Amino acid sequence: MSTTCPHCNEKAMSLLKKAFLGPSRTPLCQHCEGSVKVSQLHSAVLIAPLVILIVLLSVAGLSLSPPLVVLLVIVELVLYIWWVPLVPGEDG
Ligand SMILES: [Zn+2]
Repeated sequence: MSTTCPHCNEKAMSLLKKAFLGPSRTPLCQHCEGSVKVSQLHSAVLIAPLVILIVLLSVAGLSLSPPLVVLLVIVELVLYIWWVPLVPGEDG
């Protein structure tokens, strides 16, 4: 589970809160009040293929069908919540 705090190894926040946590925000762990944030490397790995896909499609003059966009957003959100780990918020 990727809501684990890097300081105390307890649950730092709810899944819902993590889902709306941007890469630039550094909330405090609800357990130890240590500063945490999402791993920017993992966020980039998750977002890069999507950006490349959209750029390639627009270059080719194509666009994603709305059901496919919804599916991609759901997949990205699930991966963001469960796969992207939390890292220390300061200097890390
Ligand atoms: Zn903690």
